[in-house]
Amino acid sequence: MNCKNERYKERLRDAVDFNDVFAIVKDAVEYRFGMRRAGLNLILQDMPSFVGAYHVLGSNSIVVNRYLLNTVKSIARSKEEYNSYVLVVLAHEYLHSLGMVDEYRVRTMTYELCRDLLGDEHTATIMAKSDPTSYFPELKMLMRLTFGREYELVKEFDTSNISYIA
Ligand SMILES: [Zn+2]
Repeated sequence: MNCKNERYKERLRDAVDFNDVFAIVKDAVEYRFGMRRAGLNLILQDMPSFVGAYHVLGSNSIVVNRYLLNTVKSIARSKEEYNSYVLVVLAHEYLHSLGMVDEYRVRTMTYELCRDLLGDEHTATIMAKSDPTSYFPELKMLMRLTFGREYELVKEFDTSNISYIA
């Protein structure tokens, strides 16, 4: 364990919203892989329980399953556990948004990111190593099959770098 790990763990523990967690993701990806981009929207939508989130290639949006988020929020034993889930989901989609299309590669990179920045034992690393549904077996019991019609846009998401957008 080193100082870098402690700083990232502390930031994740103290994160209060999507923007806080996303700022961690962006810093971590830049530190670990030397890549960064701006101008992403975060959209929340109720989706079938087997879909965690998605990014349409070439678009500026990450769409996260609000139904799963709410479920995780209700079963997580701590805010840190919930934040870890959000981190793993956002890191995965952020890597896609950087042009990474290969699913296996994105999963591997997400795991490496969590392991290097937070350490082997961290909840997020454990989630990223297999799958959030292995960490929260309750998620496997969910049976939702439909997409909701409503979208919720998370305001102020990714505005820290808005001036970089041409
Ligand atoms: Zn993916």
